Amino acid sequence: IPRGICSVLWASRLSQRQSLHTGNAYITQNPDESLEAAKRDTHFAVKDNIAARGLPTTCASNILAGQEIPFSATIVQQLQRRNLTVIGKTNMDEFGMGTHSTASAVGRVSNISPIEERSAGGSSGGSAVAVSAGTTDLALGTDTGGSVRMPAAYTETVGFKPSYGMISRWGVVPYANSLDTVGFIAQTVGEIESVIASVRAEHDLRDPTSLTQATRERCMAQERQVPPSVEQRKGEWLRGLTFGIPIEYNIEELDPRIKAGWMQCAQKIRDLGGRVVPVSLPSTKNALSAYYVIAPAEAASNLSKYDGIRYGKRAEGATTDALDGVLYAKTRGNGFGPEVKRRVLLGSYTLSSKAIDNYFIQAQKVRQLVRKDFDRVFKLSNPLCDEAPFDLSEMDESISLENKLGPTQVDFIISPTAPTPPPRLEDVAKQTPLDSYMNDVFTVPASLAGLPAISIPMDIPVDTTSEEEKLLNFGGLQIIGQFWDDMTLLAVAQGLS
Ligand code: GLN
Repeated sequence: IPRGICSVLWASRLSQRQSLHTGNAYITQNPDESLEAAKRDTHFAVKDNIAARGLPTTCASNILAGQEIPFSATIVQQLQRRNLTVIGKTNMDEFGMGTHSTASAVGRVSNISPIEERSAGGSSGGSAVAVSAGTTDLALGTDTGGSVRMPAAYTETVGFKPSYGMISRWGVVPYANSLDTVGFIAQTVGEIESVIASVRAEHDLRDPTSLTQATRERCMAQERQVPPSVEQRKGEWLRGLTFGIPIEYNIEELDPRIKAGWMQCAQKIRDLGGRVVPVSLPSTKNALSAYYVIAPAEAASNLSKYDGIRYGKRAEGATTDALDGVLYAKTRGNGFGPEVKRRVLLGSYTLSSKAIDNYFIQAQKVRQLVRKDFDRVFKLSNPLCDEAPFDLSEMDESISLENKLGPTQVDFIISPTAPTPPPRLEDVAKQTPLDSYMNDVFTVPASLAGLPAISIPMDIPVDTTSEEEKLLNFGGLQIIGQFWDDMTLLAVAQGLS
């Protein structure tokens, strides 16, 4: 049984239900819910940084141990209105900061048998294992820089990050607001598609980054038609689509097995009649660095509220009398784990007056270049950019030439989700923070640009007699689409699954 914040609440129930133990996936189980397989399709699991009334929301952090948020997040309410009930809250990297779900105050998540000594990915690793172990068909996660796609790739599940602003973040504990999205993990694309199809029209007044009703209607009016049946999605329709392979994604660190799987997917698309062409996304090489400046900067700002006075569990023995910082230092020192502290330090530094120009401001510029790279290669234009009045005279020449001209116009981009198969947890423990950040190299560009992206299971051609290697003949294929092309992206993902 996980050393849990609420172990008393659910220990007795858990003892009979092995599946909930699996991989330390859950932090809290909803005591009102049972886990009978027959009801599986009416449940969903919720990452522990998303509020669900009646259950604690701890973000897998000691600073929020036992904390309840007295309302449910909009997305939880939306699913409840569709007759789904919360089965439990899932384990994660503390505040969403991590790539392997090993940075949790209640113990790490691990993959399911027979590769349980492997990383389940992060930060929504608990949600991914909850799905891959069969305890639920749908789990909510959050994706700031890859946190639903990475766990999906490591657990052979489907992980979807919608366009930024489509799904309300009200009731989701912020990590890096300009990047955070609610994400979805499921066994199949179909489950996710039905949710997105119905909730994407709903604006949320309580979330200032939720796209307005007018923008939603305009975007929906421009949506492409997708064929309803799976057969059609594998057939004729795919012949009209072009897929880009970004040449910059062929990095040195790419594991040859993952590369072989990626190329096999490209071939499969060609066999089905789709076009596959190389594209160039030159700013990709700076995307990871920009992400690891912007995300910690926003995190440092967000987490400053956990001071033991207004928010967060005060360290024992610390009193408000001490104006010398003891209360802060003790509370934050005890309450946050090492990765969170690292991000707070990093973010505070890059926002400091001496460093901001060289780091934070540069990173914002890189972010714009990353978005422009995508806009240049996609056939569809970005509906958010259409909104601005288009005045050629104001446009700097380099932008007009570089961004809109060029022969390659693609519908989607395909890449691996992660550069390697799921690593051993013992190797993860030896990684430096930088090694771990490197894993996010393929997922952060879509996050910086706010684009929809999905990870679906990808077969790896096996060329080995090793039994262990054969267990790992999967990875994740990432498909990235233009802003608000989520429904087409999901249809394509289903066609390629
Ligand atoms: N691994 C990335 C990070 O640690 C992404 C996390 C996320 O998407 N929440 O920031």
